[in-house]
Amino acid sequence: MKKFFIVISIIVFIIFLLAFVGRHFYENNIKENYEEQTNNDKNTIIENNESNNVDKPNEEDIEEKNNDYIILDVNEVRIPILMYHSISDSDLNNNLLVPIKEFEAEVKWLKENRFTPMLLDDVLEAYNTGYVPKRPVAITFDDGYADNYTDAYRILNENKMKATFFIITNNTDTDSFYMNSNILKEMKDNGMGIENHTSRHMEFTNISRDEKAMIIQEGIDILKEKLGVDSKFVCYPVGRYDEETIEVEKELGIKAAVTTEPGISSLNDGIYSLKRVRMTPMEIDSFKEIFQEFL
Ligand SMILES: [Zn+2]
Repeated sequence: MKKFFIVISIIVFIIFLLAFVGRHFYENNIKENYEEQTNNDKNTIIENNESNNVDKPNEEDIEEKNNDYIILDVNEVRIPILMYHSISDSDLNNNLLVPIKEFEAEVKWLKENRFTPMLLDDVLEAYNTGYVPKRPVAITFDDGYADNYTDAYRILNENKMKATFFIITNNTDTDSFYMNSNILKEMKDNGMGIENHTSRHMEFTNISRDEKAMIIQEGIDILKEKLGVDSKFVCYPVGRYDEETIEVEKELGIKAAVTTEPGISSLNDGIYSLKRVRMTPMEIDSFKEIFQEFL
């Protein structure tokens, strides 16, 4: 009888051992595939289904995500929406340009401190439900400069972060100073948000109701036609808008809009007038200050 128990114990032990080794091998295999994938040329558009499977979250990711989220009263939700323009070393005295190394340090700091990057859909959802990352950040870029691809997108990818790019749609495919639709398509397919900065970058406060509707709708149409994006957001050119602009947005099915008014965004300012933090060249300590309330 004693022998019988010993034999059973050994068999059970072997089964556990095989299960453990098998699982370990399987996980390593997935990890290797993933690393191989992320090391591939970043300029290649990911098209086939096999590659897309790699990006699907596994159970660990979902668990981690749940731990990083909280539920608040929607009026208590606060999300820093960063507003960048160009990422470039070409003119270090220009306040609209953030130097490449500074941007890289900022993205790395956000990543290392477990900030959850949000696209505008995520921001809208947080303001609708109160379900929000403990450490939220929405990174945005205005105007669609070519360096947003060569430097910003590259650095975001290297750090597995994502951002939203507001495009002046009439400039797409007309001027190499701006990102073209092939580039934008690649970025969209890799998880970036491509959104509407209107077709012509006119100030809403200087134009008629019909023109307001026209430049928003043209932006929506071009984003749909060239990139397959169903655009629901607007970024006001030069930050200018008025009550009529908001009425037109509601008529056109726009769900939210961002301004250049400085501050951490909150529903109290209105979903069509979300504040942003203007990003200028700054020391990393000043950058960390922006996020003080979330640390
Ligand atoms: Zn602009």
